[in-house]
Amino acid sequence: MLTDSYGRIATDLRVSLTDRCNLRCSYCMPPEGLDWLPKPEVLTGDEVARLVRIGVEALGIREVRFTGGEPLLRRDLVAIIAAAAALSPRPEISLTTNGIGLDRRAAALRDAGLDRINVSLDTLRPEVFRKLTHRDRLDDVLSGLAAAAAAGLTPVKVNAVLMRDLNEDEAPALLRYCLDHGYELRFIEQMPLDAQHGWKRAEMITAEEIFGALAREFALSDDSERERGAAPAETFLVNGGPARVGVIASVTRPFCGACDRVRLTADGQIRNCLFARSESDLRSLLRSGATDEEVAARWRAAVAAKLPGHGINDPSFLQPDRPMSAIGG
Ligand code: SAM
Repeated sequence: MLTDSYGRIATDLRVSLTDRCNLRCSYCMPPEGLDWLPKPEVLTGDEVARLVRIGVEALGIREVRFTGGEPLLRRDLVAIIAAAAALSPRPEISLTTNGIGLDRRAAALRDAGLDRINVSLDTLRPEVFRKLTHRDRLDDVLSGLAAAAAAGLTPVKVNAVLMRDLNEDEAPALLRYCLDHGYELRFIEQMPLDAQHGWKRAEMITAEEIFGALAREFALSDDSERERGAAPAETFLVNGGPARVGVIASVTRPFCGACDRVRLTADGQIRNCLFARSESDLRSLLRSGATDEEVAARWRAAVAAKLPGHGINDPSFLQPDRPMSAIGG
């Protein structure tokens, strides 16, 4: 098992399949994009499949989420998902995506074994979408969402980040849209993970502000039926339920004590936290002919060294060198 010295067990593996993205969300990267990883440094589909197999068969991983960058940019995504779905015990398989191109691929992804999906959608206004992502693709995201629901990748979850003076007033509209379409919305507090290092605590929209905005239109009540466990989102029933809304308050209500996640970057590095300052290199082990047990041993050591918390609220906090797009959100 992947245990750390604080008694936490990592069972949820987040795999970044690429650091590239076809959007330029300003809380993540600059409009001109970034220096992408050179292709030879990115894990091949077979290498990803091997690491996922080691995680599941030898290290107790029970859930695998593919992310990025934008995972739909990987042409071999269906094969990677199929390989994960063939494992025993079969892990839960999910995908976090911006939804662009999902309308053409949702059914194939489901057939390969994808169980669940999260689609990022921060605004319903085309001009705000353009401003926030530097691309004109709102309609593509909305059709991707509809395709995910039609393919039965339910409950379709929607991730939204609110930014001051940009989309901060859209919380109720986003919730209305998700309720109307049967999607489950979760707001994510903006974290200091942008490549530009522009995040300022005083400027971020807090969970409290989001609750305040929603409370003007909706009644939110305790979701006592759903055990939170290690889930990052705190969920609430909307207007008595059964519809729900979630808030991931990583900054103002950290949940590190219950964290069960471990991350694999697109270039084969294990990170024991989004905010880790160091990584463990599994790619060079793989490529030097290491055995599964040698790979598993380095992975175990990486998780064992996990710190008690992300430290965002400590005066000594240092933002990680890699931005969210390179770590895998
Ligand atoms: N491209 C995919 C997408 O858009 O969902 C997957 C990768 S993206 C990095 C994963 C999630 O991280 C998205 O929901 C995005 O909104 C969120 N995210 C990115 N940067 C963030 C930040 N600085 N703070 C909070 N959430 C962030």
